Amino acid sequence: VYVGVGTGIGGGIVSGGRSLPGPDRGSCELGHVVVDRSGPLCTCGRRGCLQAEASGPAVLRAAARTLGREVAYDELVRGRAAGAPWACAAIDHAAAVLATALVGAAELVRPELLVVGGGFAAGLPGFVTGVADRVAELARPGHPTPPVRPAALGGLSSLHGAVLAARGLA
Ligand SMILES: [Zn+2]
Repeated sequence: VYVGVGTGIGGGIVSGGRSLPGPDRGSCELGHVVVDRSGPLCTCGRRGCLQAEASGPAVLRAAARTLGREVAYDELVRGRAAGAPWACAAIDHAAAVLATALVGAAELVRPELLVVGGGFAAGLPGFVTGVADRVAELARPGHPTPPVRPAALGGLSSLHGAVLAARGLA
């Protein structure tokens, strides 16, 4: 199970070498999995989608609410590196919500691996580790959660996947 965190949130499930749900059945919309029914409004018009809580813009909005002004991505990265509470809180919330959605997906398809990619995730040192920690916390007795790894293709992971899908190779 793959999740790409950038300006939006994309997902992908590969099972037996094939992409699910398959090209004739639409895309794997992990970003529109509802994680909080009373959460913020998503671009799709519904409340509480993963994308509305944990995409790059969502994290920047959360940080901006705390600081009372706009926050740029570079500032968020620096804030995290310096341990600034406003940055850490916004990022940790995103990691926790992503973990919630990933564990939900893992309960359905029992993947070998959870992969986190996308430009937002790749640019934030320690972000994937944070997601992994939150995923591990959600294990239930007798059912350990799958390992979480950063996408090998880093910030361009979703783009590469999209190209493969367009060529009919994924
Ligand atoms: Zn949505």
